Amino acid sequence: MEVEIRTLTPLWTGGAESGAVDRVHETAIIGSLRWWYEAILRGLGGKVCDPTMQKCLYDPSKRNHGLCDVCKVFGATGWRRRFRISIICDRTEPDPTVKPLVKADRSYVDRRGRKRTPTWYFPENLKDKPRSGSLTIRIQSTTPKGLETGAKLEFQPAIIGGLLQFMADWVTIGARAQMGFGVFELPGGRLDTAPLYDWLTANAGTRTYTRMPSLRNIFLARIRLENVKMQETFNLKYDLRQLFSGQQNTSLRHFIMGTTKGQRMAAKVKMSRPYGNRLMRVWGWIPEQAEVYQGFWDRDSVVGAIHEHLRTRYSLEVWREMNSPRDTETPNNGDFREFLRSLLRLEEKRYGT
Ligand SMILES: [Zn+2]
Repeated sequence: MEVEIRTLTPLWTGGAESGAVDRVHETAIIGSLRWWYEAILRGLGGKVCDPTMQKCLYDPSKRNHGLCDVCKVFGATGWRRRFRISIICDRTEPDPTVKPLVKADRSYVDRRGRKRTPTWYFPENLKDKPRSGSLTIRIQSTTPKGLETGAKLEFQPAIIGGLLQFMADWVTIGARAQMGFGVFELPGGRLDTAPLYDWLTANAGTRTYTRMPSLRNIFLARIRLENVKMQETFNLKYDLRQLFSGQQNTSLRHFIMGTTKGQRMAAKVKMSRPYGNRLMRVWGWIPEQAEVYQGFWDRDSVVGAIHEHLRTRYSLEVWREMNSPRDTETPNNGDFREFLRSLLRLEEKRYGT
């Protein structure tokens, strides 16, 4: 299976450790595929290991070979990934609009009374300059050792194709999404998402994940602003941080928006650079449970504050969120599979309700 990807915002190339970086690396793509695959499968209650706790280890004597439903596909120690991605034609070029630093159109007064402008620096290594253009990838299924027989275990590249379509519709591909990289389109036309849906629902279970990224606690939004400048991504990032820099703690702000100071923490809310001259994507995952809420906040109030900010400052084109009155397409829908089908744009007639 071959798929053409065209960037709408620069794509992070990955492969930073390999020295000369002058092309897009497969690892950058696979990491983001895995992240979304995990999030959807957690929403379905499937078995997903927490790589920060204990990674899966292939062990043929154990049930399911000791692998969770994600490692089964994306690989684990001793177990090969069920598909291979190769970039067969890379027509991307380093993007000249990516500068080593960006200043927001904002200012604040620091503790010493000095006027400051919020500034972001990247990339750390300019050899890794994000790239724009198009590339063609080939997705092939692989057969891990010990699995040579058994047709029902055959992994279809179309499953990954469906995941690419989901990401093209809603989010980004590649690393450093928090810097707005990786919005893309599929110029060859829509890919069928049914193989992904069928595969994932076959792995559904009854587990709940209240502290991990899950499509049940994710929101996906698209906002519009006429003649939007690239800085707007960073203005918005600053403004959202301000929403959570309240009285009690900086820890909530760091928990939601991330920090590179002290103990690094990844941002849970991300926003793309502008594309199409006026669109930006904003998405994030806000867990149901977290110590940092301290009884003052909860998931609904955090997501509600973000939604209110976007709704009042921008034209909010779409907001998707499971079981929420804020959802613009299927509000208050508590049926996860129905929500997933709607995100995957699967027709009702095939799956019913
Ligand atoms: Zn695992």
